[in-house]
Amino acid sequence: MLDHIRFVLCNTTHPGNIGAAARAMKTMAVSRLTLVSPRHFPDAEATARASGADDLLQNATVTDDLEAAVADCHLVLGSSARLRKVALAQYNAREAAEVSVARAAAGQQVAVLFGTERSGLSNDEINRCHALVHIPSNPDYSSLNLGSAVQVLAYEFQMAMLNQAGLEPNRMPDHVPATQNQFQGLMGHFEQAMTVLKILNPKQSATLMARIQRLMSRAEPSDVEINILRGLLSAAEKAAQKSTQKSDTTPAGEVVGPDR
Ligand code: SAH
Repeated sequence: MLDHIRFVLCNTTHPGNIGAAARAMKTMAVSRLTLVSPRHFPDAEATARASGADDLLQNATVTDDLEAAVADCHLVLGSSARLRKVALAQYNAREAAEVSVARAAAGQQVAVLFGTERSGLSNDEINRCHALVHIPSNPDYSSLNLGSAVQVLAYEFQMAMLNQAGLEPNRMPDHVPATQNQFQGLMGHFEQAMTVLKILNPKQSATLMARIQRLMSRAEPSDVEINILRGLLSAAEKAAQKSTQKSDTTPAGEVVGPDR
């Protein structure tokens, strides 16, 4: 089950933390490690800190961007040292592990993102998440070292897996959400259709698109639902293009019909 769960370290600065994360994961049998654009990797410091968990480092997937790291994922969770004011569900570590393990048991791919040491996950990275995860901690000193945060979460995943047999069946989602790849296809289509429909104001477009992305993320559409939405968007685009062509070809002064 833990095969379906990957820990994704985003833009890690210190290679020692990558090694510490690998060791923390291996002790809890979480073995899929993805590194998004690490500053130094492979690196002797990472191997030294992994201390026997260097097989995780050797098997780690390294990507240039987050998109590639989570393209096939059905659920993406972002771990954060701070509670953030975003319209996303926020789980504690235990709840996140229970949800993830239930999803993994249903055959879905799950990613947990960890931010860069200095500043945590960026807004763009958070926009990719379905929900946030916080390890309850001292509100005045809540930021764990990256390796420690990985350890606590990996432990909760191990415990959730051991407890999985006790989960009530109604906690399982009744549909399979689309992968991130399909989801990003929908987002791209929204942006394109809204441009054709001239309802994207370039000044506000990033905020508007982020809001739509969060709304859609909360809904976790399936691939069939995504196709329905994309069909609607295509129809809207066609209708808009037709009406522009019509008005372009209407000679000045011509009497227009009641449908215009
Ligand atoms: N200074 C950053 C924290 C970076 S710590 C900030 O204030 O956001 C590096 C990463 O460890 C974080 O991005 C997060 O993924 C994880 N982490 C640290 N403390 C955590 C906590 N209390 N709960 C959940 N994740 C935490």
